[in-house]
Formats: sequence, C-alpha cells, structure tokens
Amino acid sequence: MLEVVRPGDRLYRAVRDVYTATGRPAAVARPASTPEVVEALRFARDAGGPLSVRSGGHGISSVATNVEGTVIDLGLLNSVERIGDDLVRIGPGARWGDVAAALHPWGLAISSGDSGDVGVGGLATTGGVGLMGRAHGLTIDHLVAAEVVTADGTVRRVDAEQDPDLFWAIRGAGANVGIVTSFDFRADRVPVVGRATLQYRVDDVARFLRAWGETVEAAPREISAFLYLMGGEFALATIVYAGDDPQGAGRAFGPFTAVAPVLGQQAQLVPYAGVVTATHAPHRGQQGATTHTGLAVHLDEPITARLADLAGSGAVEMLQIRSTGGAINDVARDATAYAHRHQNFSVTAVSSMPFDEAWERVWPMMDGLYLSFETSFSTELLEAAFPPATLSRLRDIKRRVDPDDVFNQNFPVATPVSR
Ligand SMILES: Cc1cc2nc3c(=O)[nH]c(=O)nc-3n(C[C@H](O)[C@H](O)[C@H](O)COP(=O)(O)OP(=O)(O)OC[C@H]3O[C@@H](n4cnc5c(N)ncnc54)[C@H](O)[C@@H]3O)c2cc1C
Repeated sequence: MLEVVRPGDRLYRAVRDVYTATGRPAAVARPASTPEVVEALRFARDAGGPLSVRSGGHGISSVATNVEGTVIDLGLLNSVERIGDDLVRIGPGARWGDVAAALHPWGLAISSGDSGDVGVGGLATTGGVGLMGRAHGLTIDHLVAAEVVTADGTVRRVDAEQDPDLFWAIRGAGANVGIVTSFDFRADRVPVVGRATLQYRVDDVARFLRAWGETVEAAPREISAFLYLMGGEFALATIVYAGDDPQGAGRAFGPFTAVAPVLGQQAQLVPYAGVVTATHAPHRGQQGATTHTGLAVHLDEPITARLADLAGSGAVEMLQIRSTGGAINDVARDATAYAHRHQNFSVTAVSSMPFDEAWERVWPMMDGLYLSFETSFSTELLEAAFPPATLSRLRDIKRRVDPDDVFNQNFPVATPVSR
C-alpha cells in the first residue's frame, strides 16, 4: 500500500525538507514500486497544488519540496543490481556514494558528481559532471535504457529504439517529461583511481585561474579536476586520474603542482567509492544558498578577470570550477537534451546572500548553462540551458507526453516565466 506521510505523522519531520531548503508539503508519498509511483502521481494530480519529485533531495534549486503541495519521494526505490557484464540497473532514490560502493566489488564505476549524497534521479536526468567526466563522459552518456512514468500514468520502457524521443529528453531535461523509476547504465571498468588533493595559496586570482585552465586542458583525458576557490586567497583542488597506473597518475598530477604555491598535497590510489562517499545526513535545509553558473570553453581573458573581480568583491563565498571536455565533448550535441558538448569548464559561484548584480558582469562571458547548478530561473536561463534546436524538440515532446504541464517545477520548458 502506498505510504503517505502528512503533517503530524511521526515521519513528517524526516521527509518534509531537502538539503537546501525547508518545506511544508501537505503530503509526502513514498512509493516502494513502479505501480506505487503511478498511484502516487494519481494521488498528487487529484490533490492539485504543487507537485515535487524527489530522489536524493540534493537539488540546488530546492524544488524537491514545496508548501501545501505533494512530494513524490522516490527514496525507497534505491536498489543497485547487476543485470549484465557491465550493465547495472539503479533506482532513482539511490545516492551516488552508495552506487559507487555497490559497484566497486564488481570492478565497475560510473562517473557521477563530487558529492556522494546526491541522488541518482536528479543527477542522471540532467547531466552528471563528474570526477571521471573527461575520461568517461557525463553520467547520462552511460544511460542505455530507463523506465519512465509519464503524466497520464503510463509506464514506458525507453531506449535508443523504443520511444527514442523520450529517451533523448530524459538525458538532460528529465524533470520536464516524467518520473524516471529505473535507470540502466553501462558502467566503466574502473577498479581504482588516482586521487590527488591540493591546497593552493592564491596571490593573483586571474593569473591562477588562467594557469589552472591551461593545465586542465593540457592534461591527459584520464584527468578530471575540480577546483574550489574560497575568498580569493585559498583554493582546494580534487583531481582524479581514471586509471590504476601509479606512474601515469603521478606524471599527470605533476603539472598541477606548478599552478600556484602548494600549501599541502596528497595523492593515492583509491576505489572510486573512496572519492564519493554518502553521509546520509538528515535533510533540514542546512545548505541553503544562492548559486549562479555558466559554462566556459576556456578560462582566459576576459572571463578570468571578471571572475577575479567577483571573487574579490566579497559578494560570493566560493567559486567552483569543474572540468567538462574530453569524452563529454565526443558526444554529438543533438544526441541528448543536454547539448553542451564543446565547453571545457563549468563555473559556479556560491553565496549565502543574493548576488545577481555582481554575477551580471560574469554572465555575458559564459557559453551555455548546466541547469543543476543554478538557483534562478528565467527565459534567458532556460534558453542558455537548452539551445534553440534542443528547446524546440523538447517542447514538441513535452506537448505529446505532458500536455497539462504536470511536471513544471525544474527548468520548465512549457511556459517560460521569471521567478
Ligand atoms: C553538494 C552538492 C554537490 C553537487 N555536485 C555536483 C557535481 O559535481 N556534478 C553534477 O553534475 N551535479 C552536482 N550537483 C547537482 C546535482 O546533480 C543536482 O542538484 C541533482 O538534481 C540532485 O539530484 P537529487 O536526486 O539529489 O535531487 P532532488 O532534489 O531529489 O531532485 C532535483 C530535481 O530533479 C528532478 N528529479 C529528481 N528525481 C527525478 C526522477 N527520478 N525523474 C525525473 N526527475 C527527477 C526533479 O525535478 C527534482 O526537483 C551537486 C549538488 C549538491 C547539493
């Protein structure tokens, strides 16, 4: 029987909030099977009001909870099964850290993001910029089939042959077209990876970012590198070498020690599961923040100067720079609803206070947007996330599979509105 948690129920406090926001939904449905997802969707549509779909509850835009509406919480659909040599079937409610731990004994791994607590459902329906991305592509590039419940309650199995339009749409804009209840991924054979962590002293942000960008782009594809710049004076880097050759890893890490004065460093071979671990900390809206984001082809002038101004302005607490490129850019831009296949970096600014004005000087330098790192929404941002041909195909699919715009919470394509 479908479990529905309401205000006053013992479990309500545990399921009302997400990582980035508190919520006050009228009901949280917790389906334990696909038929129960269908039932939960019917329940939500009958109830009216806002509908949120939640997998791991780590969405930065906080739309996986609401006020006075219904949440469909897929946390119980968290199984990880091996269904073939390198094929795995994963439920949307699994966390990426748990996925990495389950895949490791099979010698397999799937590149996800940098947080093991992020849910499979949210990340695998938008992109998945991960620490093996340059070597193995986005998370969505590993998807070979999925099960989707569409707005009318139909359960559809989608892949490249069967319902190819819907299969295309869930790889980048999944939240617009249905609820993905199961993902089949082709995993990579990755017994262990090299992981280096470096702490830098930063004297000149613009010069540092230029050097970082050049070093990342010159690195072999085995390298993916994420940088976290705090307050303009100090930076942390996590660099992953997707391979088990210690000499190769050492050679590939070497140039990163010349980017700026290194205050501390560590490198070791670890299972990928050691790079992304899940803490399962309860959600209480503890990480509420404003984030703005964009993609960049290179970290060169004038982007680096504008980012240096932003870092020095005090308006943001952190800049995060994730490598994309490599295998991510081997995929044709029209192959998935995530169409950004020529940029080398994802740039995200984070602050506990709004900083729209400060970001306005950086934004025109950006080339496209990965929606998972953005807390605002506008027609301009929608069009940056989905270039014209992508948006037009998406709207066409949306008209067919969700004519009533039931799934309208996360970068909705049907009716552009500002918020
Ligand atoms: C600390 C942190 C670090 C992160 N690092 C990275 C990173 O390195 N790389 C990266 O790519 N992303 C990263 N992200 C962004 C993350 O991928 C997205 O926020 C993602 O949406 C979270 O997935 P979730 O299932 O936990 O989210 P939820 O909050 O549960 O869902 C987010 C939204 O996704 C949609 N959704 C969820 N499940 C489904 C489903 N089954 N079917 C259809 N739509 C669904 C819904 O619209 C929902 O509102 C990070 C986020 C955080 C908080």
